[in-house]
Amino acid sequence: MRFDIITLFPELFEPFFSHGITRRAFESGQVQVKLWNLREFAEGNYRRVDDRPFGGGPGMVMQPDPLWRALQAVVASRHQEQAPKAPVVLFSPQGQKITHSSVQARATGPGAVFICGRYEGIDQRFIDACVDEEVSLGDFVLSGGEIAAMALIDAVARLQPGVLSDEGSHQQDSFNPALDGLLDCPHYTRPETWQGPAGPMPVPDVLMGGNHAHIAQWRRQQQLKQTALRRPDLIEAARRAGALNKDDLAYLRSI
Ligand code: SAH
Repeated sequence: MRFDIITLFPELFEPFFSHGITRRAFESGQVQVKLWNLREFAEGNYRRVDDRPFGGGPGMVMQPDPLWRALQAVVASRHQEQAPKAPVVLFSPQGQKITHSSVQARATGPGAVFICGRYEGIDQRFIDACVDEEVSLGDFVLSGGEIAAMALIDAVARLQPGVLSDEGSHQQDSFNPALDGLLDCPHYTRPETWQGPAGPMPVPDVLMGGNHAHIAQWRRQQQLKQTALRRPDLIEAARRAGALNKDDLAYLRSI
């Protein structure tokens, strides 16, 4: 899949692409990314991309023309390089919130053309005419769409086959339908007893016992407990989907 990113700050992406999971996904060719510097599509001596809002008010608004020229260049390049047709996605606090299921859908899709806003946002006419989807990182306001683009590409990259060093590891992550959409269980590693600030803290006994059935049961119960306390909505959704068995329901009643 190929992601084209239209941004005023392409250099923000460099360290992100050259480390860890995302680097592996790019090196393996599973995820391709092309950065487009919006400034290069601006005209005039000052290469302006923004202007004051009509009707007054604070801040600046990104003008439609540079964005339109950039988008046409992206579409031409995708066509020329035989990349599949892909939606134009604008990052915006007003968009649909990114969820595990939307990431999963994108992880097997054609990629996208991402538009990163800055300033007060983008001239509405460009959005009306050219944007297929608006997506949000959450109910808060960022100063630009770049971090949202990195977050989404990171989440998509780690779902690509072979990208995580341990194939099973995203299977047990929070929100995975394979785990009925519940939160992950807690994890422990060496040392067996950690000398914490309030005294020695051992790892739960069951994890040290080597009884895999007990461990699996304990983990499932921890998952249920963690989710019931933090995200009762996910328990409710799993219950409605018929994803909780008799033992799960009995355990939930017991706590
Ligand atoms: N005036 C706008 C916010 C502009 S913030 C409003 O209140 O709706 C500048 C840019 O940052 C936006 O154009 C968008 O691309 C990005 N951005 C801000 N918050 C975001 C969020 N929660 N998710 C994704 N992108 C966001």
